[in-house]
Amino acid sequence: MPAGRFAPSPTSDLHLGNLRTALVAWLAARSTGRDFLVRIEDLDQQRVAAARGVAERQLADLAALGLDHDGPVVVQSERTALYEEALAQLDTYECFCSRKEIAEAAQAPHDGVRVYPGTCRDLSEAERSARRRDRSPALRVRANAATVTVNDVLHGEVTGLVDDFVVRRNDGVHAYNLAVVVDDGRQRVDQVVRGDDLLGSSPRQAWLANQLEYDVPTYLHVPLAVSESGARLAKRDGAVTLAELVDQGVGPGRVLGTLAESLGLAQPGEPVTVNDLLARFNVEALPRGPWLVASLAQAPACENKMSMT
Ligand code: GLU
Repeated sequence: MPAGRFAPSPTSDLHLGNLRTALVAWLAARSTGRDFLVRIEDLDQQRVAAARGVAERQLADLAALGLDHDGPVVVQSERTALYEEALAQLDTYECFCSRKEIAEAAQAPHDGVRVYPGTCRDLSEAERSARRRDRSPALRVRANAATVTVNDVLHGEVTGLVDDFVVRRNDGVHAYNLAVVVDDGRQRVDQVVRGDDLLGSSPRQAWLANQLEYDVPTYLHVPLAVSESGARLAKRDGAVTLAELVDQGVGPGRVLGTLAESLGLAQPGEPVTVNDLLARFNVEALPRGPWLVASLAQAPACENKMSMT
C-alpha cells in the first residue's frame, strides 16, 4: 500500500508548526487512500539522549489531535543494518575534512545548502590510510555535481545541485539524507509531507532514491510557522507545544481548530474533528506563505469556551 508519513526527530516536543505539518501529512495521506506511517528519526543519539521521553510525547500529541497511523511506529536507530546495506550499493569515498575546513573551502551556500568542494574526492589509498590515523572519516557519496529537479505540490519545480553529500558521519551515525531515503523507499512512502526548511534537501534525496532504485516520492513542503517577530516559531515564544497549551486551558480540540483555521479549513472558533477536515481538504488550496502564529493562550476567554475539550 502506498503511504504518506510523519517523521519527527525526538529532540524536542512538537510545537504548533510541527503539529500543523503532521495534520497536513495525515490529511494528504488519508484523503488519497494512502496509509499514514509514523517514523521516529532518532539516529542522533546524543541529541536524543538529552531529550528523554520526547518520542512518547510526540506520539501522544498526534493521538490527542486524532491523527491515527497504520502499522507499528518505525524507529530509525533499530534499522542501521538497512542503512549499511544501502551504503554498500553506493559509490562512496572517505572524507577527512573538519567542519571548519569545509566552511573555509566550500563555495557559497547553494540555495541554502552548502556545497562540498570535493577536497577528499581523489585521495590516493596511501593518503587515506595516513589521514585515518588522525581522524576517522565520514563517508560521502560521489554525485558528480548532478543537477536534479523535483516537483513540489506547493513550491513547483525545485532544482538543486547535488554535491558529494555525507551519507555516514565521522562518528559512525548514518546521515539523515541516507536514512530518510532508505526508509521512505522500504516503507513504500510515495508522498513526503514535511516542513519547508527541508525543501533544499529534496533534490539530493530524489537523486539518492534513484541511485538506490526507489521511486521518487511526491513532495509537499509545508510553509513554516513563524512568531510575530518573523522568526521561526520556538520555545521562547511562550506556550507553543500541546502540553503547554493544555496547561493554560487550551485543549487539543481548540488547538486542532486553530491549525485547521490556519490552513483555511475551518472558521475561527469552529469546533472540528479531523474527519470534518478530511472532507474539506484540498491540497491545491493550502496557504503558500509562512503561518504567523498569534498567541493562543492569551486569546479572549469567550473563545476558550468554544474549546471542544
Ligand atoms: N526528522 C526530520 C525533522 O524532524 C523530518 C524528516 C523528513 O520528514 O524528511 O525535521
